[in-house]
Amino acid sequence: MARYHADLHCHSTASDGSDPPARVVERAKERGLHVLALTDHDTVAGVAEAQEAGRRLGVQVIAGTELTCYIGKREIHVLGYGIDINHPGLKNHCEAFQAKRIERAQLIGQRLAQAGAPIDIDAVMRNADGGVIGRPHIAKALMEAGHVKDFQEAFDRFLGDGKPANVPKLEVSPQECVAVIREAGGMAIMAHPALGDQFDLIDTMIAAGCSGVEVCHSAHDEATQNRLHAIVIDRGYAHSGGSDCHGTVKGCEPILGNYGLNAQQWKKFTAAFERATGRPLT
Ligand code: AMP
Ligand code: ZN
Ligand code: FE
Ligand code: FE
Repeated sequence: MARYHADLHCHSTASDGSDPPARVVERAKERGLHVLALTDHDTVAGVAEAQEAGRRLGVQVIAGTELTCYIGKREIHVLGYGIDINHPGLKNHCEAFQAKRIERAQLIGQRLAQAGAPIDIDAVMRNADGGVIGRPHIAKALMEAGHVKDFQEAFDRFLGDGKPANVPKLEVSPQECVAVIREAGGMAIMAHPALGDQFDLIDTMIAAGCSGVEVCHSAHDEATQNRLHAIVIDRGYAHSGGSDCHGTVKGCEPILGNYGLNAQQWKKFTAAFERATGRPLT
């Protein structure tokens, strides 16, 4: 029996996860999840395949995404749920990101060569297989070239915030990012506030139009979850949760279903969605 009813944060090969969208849904089924939201970075390209698999397997698949925005040099992620994946504004936004990510990957390649860790960036792009190219793809190439021993070292030495090969994506503001989600009919949630220590940005993100925050997440320890839980209860924010599973990309076993919402929390989440958007979440 799964501990969680819903896992509302995961990635597929449409961005930087290791499993194709349909395989992610199969895994959700194996883990006993009833609800899954596919939330690939700055894209919805995997959602149709995931929803098709969901219909076949009896898993409710919520159309989702995880959009990137910035306040100064700080990168914040915003989860969007229940979006219309064919909405023109959303499509434009994702296309602009995709184009920028290709340019960015070339720049990261140049910076890595300058830092003494050359990789074949064109091969990395081919391996991304038309998906959204991200730093995890590059981290893998750095491992394969023997420049780093594991995924984390690639970020700690080269790719993380403030490191020599860190290049921003499109410098979108929280307001713009949340507006894309809301105009596409969705509810916006601030992702993993403890990653990068972003507690101080919660109220800013709510003011920008987010309905709530992600509480249960693989990077949040118990104390962090309790702290976030107190905030959402106290201020009446919506409460989301998910594993942020990337399959095997980060060098661990898939963690799908290990974090999320229980049945009661899921019910509250759907009520929050209706309040935010005026329609039921399907
Ligand atoms: P990108 O979309 O190219 O910016 O890559 C974002 C992904 O890189 C995140 O989803 C994480 O999986 C990973 N990532 C970002 N920063 C770090 C970090 N400091 N340590 C480990 N992984 C990170
Ligand atoms: Zn990712
Ligand atoms: Fe994220
Ligand atoms: Fe994520």
